[in-house]
Amino acid sequence: MSSCHEMKQGDIYVCKDCGLELKVVAQCKNFGISEKAHDHDTCNFICCEKEMVIKE
Ligand SMILES: [Zn+2]
Repeated sequence: MSSCHEMKQGDIYVCKDCGLELKVVAQCKNFGISEKAHDHDTCNFICCEKEMVIKE
């Protein structure tokens, strides 16, 4: 989970540590725009001091 514009609606992100799951119910307005195309700081979603990962 590096940037909000890579997070697709319906994707689920999970914390490997505690099992918390978050679902994307609405996409970022910049979804699909490449990192270079918009100067936006990286978004980090941290749980238990670790970055949350997309659920397979
Ligand atoms: Zn956690």
